[in-house]
Amino acid sequence: VLVDNGRRRAVAQGFGEAFSCISCGACLNHCPVYAVIGDKYGVTTHIGGIGLLQASFTSGLDLTAGQGLSLCLNCRACVDPCPVRIDTPGMHARLREHLPAGQRLPGLARVVLALARRVPLMRAAGWALYGAERLGLRRMVQSKLPPRLQEMAPLLPPMPAPREMARPPAVIEPIGPHKHTVAFFSGCVMSTWLAPVNWATLRVLARSGCRIRVPRRQGCCGALHHHMGAGGAARKLARRVINAFSRLDDCEAIVTNSAGCGAAMKEYAELLHDDPRYADRAAAFSARVRDASEFLVVHGLAQAGPVRARAVYFDPCHLGIAQGITKEPRWLLSHVPGLKVVEAQRREACCGSAGIFNLVHPEVSGRLADLLVEDLMAAAPELIVTSNPGCLLQVRWGLARSGADRPPEVIHLMELLDHATGAAR
Ligand code: SF4
Ligand code: SF4
Repeated sequence: VLVDNGRRRAVAQGFGEAFSCISCGACLNHCPVYAVIGDKYGVTTHIGGIGLLQASFTSGLDLTAGQGLSLCLNCRACVDPCPVRIDTPGMHARLREHLPAGQRLPGLARVVLALARRVPLMRAAGWALYGAERLGLRRMVQSKLPPRLQEMAPLLPPMPAPREMARPPAVIEPIGPHKHTVAFFSGCVMSTWLAPVNWATLRVLARSGCRIRVPRRQGCCGALHHHMGAGGAARKLARRVINAFSRLDDCEAIVTNSAGCGAAMKEYAELLHDDPRYADRAAAFSARVRDASEFLVVHGLAQAGPVRARAVYFDPCHLGIAQGITKEPRWLLSHVPGLKVVEAQRREACCGSAGIFNLVHPEVSGRLADLLVEDLMAAAPELIVTSNPGCLLQVRWGLARSGADRPPEVIHLMELLDHATGAAR
């Protein structure tokens, strides 16, 4: 072979899998980005996520970096339909590590990643934003922003009161008989800007008979960093999480309420596979991670009282596709008396949030949110229920964009179960 068009380099760098593609196109039929922008997701004849991977070696990263290498949502919708089971999103995350930081991320996204790495800073920012909201400054500042940023305001949730953003106790005792002991992963945004969801989850677990340990210094899971190509930061955060949970041998599971964090933590074994000090510990850690819905279905949910509403459940990609958890949330909802659960047409639609994709590609992300909201609204729900912070905020953004007169409330599954199990007491 005289000219291999970059293939040997791809193999040497661990991307040879991209060239086992048989060009059947099945992945394109499932790719949300391709559905929205078509052939613009690609370069020349190399179309879609797989095409961009191949072109990165045949034509060079300089070309693909500017032509959508950051467009893969990591939704994993293309992996199952692929007859060769090519891990396109996994390779995208790794390939982004080869880009210079300046090419990888715009400034705003870099600020968000830096904040997520430092939960105390995120909490302090939350306090400041809360104060600004109380003084009416947030609305005033928002009104001075360029229209594009004003329109994205729903992506920043209303801040909870500072006492809600405070750390929970290190141990929370069960309400009623003790049945299980679990460790709880608090996360970055869930422990600060969306702290009410964490408190709701802790109450649901405690009412379901769990003693809950909440270790200090957990930090962020690193999912955002891994997805955006900041692999070094992602591995550092993963090691910190593993350290924080290392002395909790009495815990049956490490429970999370965030689909994105759960998917990332279940992949720590892979992320740290070549770290001799952490590879085994990462595998043991990943094996214990459970989504809250997954845990409650197996170990039992407290008695639920009535919630009289019509609800549609939206599957986050990182729960439904990445973790294969679709039945569990619906099973839990089916145990809430009075709740009528209806289905949207497209069960595997991506909301377009994908960590901070909405900040990096607001137009594509907004169009995905619009399509999703149109679909969800066709089910005429009073409540939209989901299990991931990014999806929750993205659906709220989509509803704001739709201009719906009386938009349904968008809540986390654990908030609904908190309401239901609290009502039963
Ligand atoms: S992971 Fe999702 S966005 Fe990325 S190529 Fe696959 S289907 Fe498309
Ligand atoms: S589905 Fe798999 S084999 Fe078919 S074009 Fe996509 S990546 Fe290639």
